[in-house]
Amino acid sequence: MRTWGVSDSLKMYNIENWGDQYFSINPAGNLTVHPKRGEGMGIDMMSVIEEIRAQGLGFPVLIRFQDIIRHRVVALNEAYKKTISELNYKGRYQGVYPIKVNQMREVVEEIIDAGRPYNYGLEAGSKAELAAVIAMNLPPDALVICNGYKDYSVLKTALMGLKLGKKVIVVVEKLSELYQVIAISRELSVIPLIGIRTKLYTKGSGRWENSGGEFAKFGLTTSELLHAINVLKQEGLQDSFKLLHFHIGSQISHIKTVKEAVKEGARIYAKLRQMGLNVEFLDVGGGLGVDYDGSRTSFESCSINYSMPEYVDAVVYSIQEICQSEEVQEPNIVSESGRAIVAHHSVLVVNSFGSIETGVAPANLEETADEDDVVKEMRYLSQNLSMKNLLEHFHDALQRKEEALSMFKLGFLSLSDKAKVENLFWQICRIVHKNSAGLKYVPDDVLDLSKYLADMYLCNFSLFQSVPDHWAIQHLFPIIPLHRHDEEPIRQATLVDITCDSDGKVNKFIDLRDIRETLPLHPLKQNEPYYMGFFMMGAYQDIMGDLHNLFGRVNEVHVFLDETEPGGYYIEEVIKGNNVAGVLSWIQYSATDLEKRIKEQIDGKVREGVIKPKEGVELQNFYEQQVLYGYTYMDINPEKYQRLIASVGVSAGQNSDFSSGQPNPGMLN
Ligand code: PLP
Repeated sequence: MRTWGVSDSLKMYNIENWGDQYFSINPAGNLTVHPKRGEGMGIDMMSVIEEIRAQGLGFPVLIRFQDIIRHRVVALNEAYKKTISELNYKGRYQGVYPIKVNQMREVVEEIIDAGRPYNYGLEAGSKAELAAVIAMNLPPDALVICNGYKDYSVLKTALMGLKLGKKVIVVVEKLSELYQVIAISRELSVIPLIGIRTKLYTKGSGRWENSGGEFAKFGLTTSELLHAINVLKQEGLQDSFKLLHFHIGSQISHIKTVKEAVKEGARIYAKLRQMGLNVEFLDVGGGLGVDYDGSRTSFESCSINYSMPEYVDAVVYSIQEICQSEEVQEPNIVSESGRAIVAHHSVLVVNSFGSIETGVAPANLEETADEDDVVKEMRYLSQNLSMKNLLEHFHDALQRKEEALSMFKLGFLSLSDKAKVENLFWQICRIVHKNSAGLKYVPDDVLDLSKYLADMYLCNFSLFQSVPDHWAIQHLFPIIPLHRHDEEPIRQATLVDITCDSDGKVNKFIDLRDIRETLPLHPLKQNEPYYMGFFMMGAYQDIMGDLHNLFGRVNEVHVFLDETEPGGYYIEEVIKGNNVAGVLSWIQYSATDLEKRIKEQIDGKVREGVIKPKEGVELQNFYEQQVLYGYTYMDINPEKYQRLIASVGVSAGQNSDFSSGQPNPGMLN
């Protein structure tokens, strides 16, 4: 029999497609990261994990590959440079990074640094974002685009930036902002740089399509745009109108939509130029997508049917075509790509600490004299299964299970008989599932068995904190084991997190042709951690997580390439996630007060003689040091767990933590 190899894993998890040469597997079966896309031997994720463990840092951990950010910034800018030169386009490209997609200072600074040769700038969409952006050390010619609804202080900050020598363009999202910009610029004696966001008829596609279209929340209608121009003319500020802006939504899945939107925007630009306005920039907004499932299709919002160079070609070519037909000067092109710049750079590493297998429990199935007929019938169905009666016995078993449940509710079935019925039922299901491929016709209820029989792998993370888009909008991200790829993943599983919420689970996974309901995984081994990576987490996820169940931010490490180091990399920075005291303080609990309250209670019990003074001190120390100032996530230590279990004196068998994989039920003749 052919043995499983790394190439089988690459294919099964479709890594070559979604990995886009940033991710691969090495001969040892470990996931590798190639921050320079395809170049070099790659950073072994397990080696990074070993180093994280050696530093005593708990999991989950978010690993940022800073060099990937740099690579994406350079790739986008170089793509524009190449197309502009090939098409002999007369304008230049001057992109900005919208910091709302990931505002982490280290991320933003990496982007500024990598973008410096290209005068790459930043976009802010709120007061806090602008406060950060305006203080950054950008090249003098880089643009700062100020989007979003603005109050007095936002507008004054933007104009203050202009006074400080930065090229801040205030994008008017609604008419009233225009009057305020004019008034505040007079107050500060500064000539504003104004952009106007226009509503396009073209809508994006997929989940973010409502950002565009005529009913979009932002932007001026055509008549408002014309009115704004009149106001600017009256105020002698028509030359301040520097930029025309549109944004039809994030993750545009179809290249046709990109072309349509850009042509519509370019047409408006051309008409403005023909009206004598010296609009210099056309800002095409965000929308450049990421191929999360690697299918290169316009499937939902998980994929895109174009590459980054194809997107850039479509933008430049469409603008040029319209400008040539309208005989106007080609504008400088601005884009606000966020997702495409930062999505790839971060990987959330979670450890699994056990699995739940449906219907496998340590119940005694042995026949007893007093057992109910319904148990006997279920046993008969199980013991006499054959290919000929597979469906018949399966449907009979379903009926017996229903009967047993009704009997139990009415008080006619004992707990031990109920347990036997359930276990026998799931035994039958496993055999039916395993043999269903041999059936001529497979009914839906048998097809559904793969879903019900899947294991649930318990994973140390909070979906709500770290992967909010999966929970909120069913966005799919590539999720795969980080090691053991030289071994066949023989279990089918869904993932559950550690929050006390049944929504905290992942039961939809990327697939080349469809959406998978289970993920192939390796059986858990005793005393061995099992690590999985959630990939392409860098856009939006880092910053949208909520405090559900008070788990808080995860630990973070920043990895940089360095060929002179043995593993080809070094860890530059470790940013500790939240501790319990930290998350509690956000909701008005003071750690000192909690410590005091616990101390009072312990002291009371010591006085009553329930607790000895020494034990009281130990408990107080434990509460303060390990609970309040410990990591909010689970401290998973397989060895410690096995020692604890051993002290109970039972065998930690199936369905216990750190194990999975009961023997498979046999094939029928
Ligand atoms: N610009 C604006 C105005 C946005 O609203 C957004 C996000 O939706 C972006 C840029 C970033 O879009 P993306 O992440 O698709 O590049």
